[in-house]
Amino acid sequence: MQSLLNEILDEVRPLIGQGKVANYIPALGGVKPNQLGIAVYSNDGELYHAGDAGTLFSIQSISKVFSLVQAIGHTGEDIWQRLGHEPSGQPFNSLVQLEFERGRPRNPFINAGALVICDINQSRFAAPSLSMRDFVRRLCSNPKIVSDAMVAESEYQHRSRNAAAAYLMKSFDNFHGDVEAVLRSYFHHCALSMSCIDLAKAFSFLAHEGFCVHSGEQILTPRQTTQLNSIMATSGLYDEAGNFAYRVGLPGKSGVGGGIVAVVPGQFSVCVWSPELNAAGNSLVGMAALEKLSARINWSVF
Ligand code: GLN
Repeated sequence: MQSLLNEILDEVRPLIGQGKVANYIPALGGVKPNQLGIAVYSNDGELYHAGDAGTLFSIQSISKVFSLVQAIGHTGEDIWQRLGHEPSGQPFNSLVQLEFERGRPRNPFINAGALVICDINQSRFAAPSLSMRDFVRRLCSNPKIVSDAMVAESEYQHRSRNAAAAYLMKSFDNFHGDVEAVLRSYFHHCALSMSCIDLAKAFSFLAHEGFCVHSGEQILTPRQTTQLNSIMATSGLYDEAGNFAYRVGLPGKSGVGGGIVAVVPGQFSVCVWSPELNAAGNSLVGMAALEKLSARINWSVF
């Protein structure tokens, strides 16, 4: 595995330069584009990594999985009264479908859906940002994980589109809390700084029938775990979920910080990071690396 990871990074490195670092969040625009890391964590607790796997980056939409897990934990199936689990076929920040579908987001991984999930969590936790940070720390047994206040503030200053989605949902009576407070929590989650190693470990419970070896907690039931993985497989990469299924064939979740996590059920959790994005807002080089890794080991769940 170790030599395979080194080999794959060497093969995909020439693609650096073809994508574009996200700059609609100004604080992310300054990230050095030529970084590349990968980490693979096995259900037996073996860790393999290559490149910049220990470098911290902004997890962005990867945090939507953690928020969803928290919401399922306290509210269970009832969350589906507020949103769906269908792929949207639209960019992550699109508003068109939301108006047509009367403020009910298609799934929890587009921004509108993640905001509804944050709204649900906001009503359950006294300090949603801290409870999320502590949850993530437990999942990967790294007590040093923090949210980058500068990134969160930069997102808040440029919140127009997310605010529009939240207020639109409020107009359809599908948003109950204070919009600005929920946006603050959402950006705080997105601004968590983690490495490929942290994220590969944090996602290992999804490869392990919901059991987290680091905290000893059963985070989700085995059934909830397969359901969550299925939502990642169908919606985790927005309007590129089909392409990801075709090329990689694993449940996955991306973020505009350039990270992509993937789950090989029963075996491994993986995180790859490279900040340059393709047109759909997913890591261009990360996707290529996962495609090669999945093909070489025959990982596709399909
Ligand atoms: N914080 C980002 C946003 O709200 C997350 C988007 C993403 O990573 N796809 O736009």
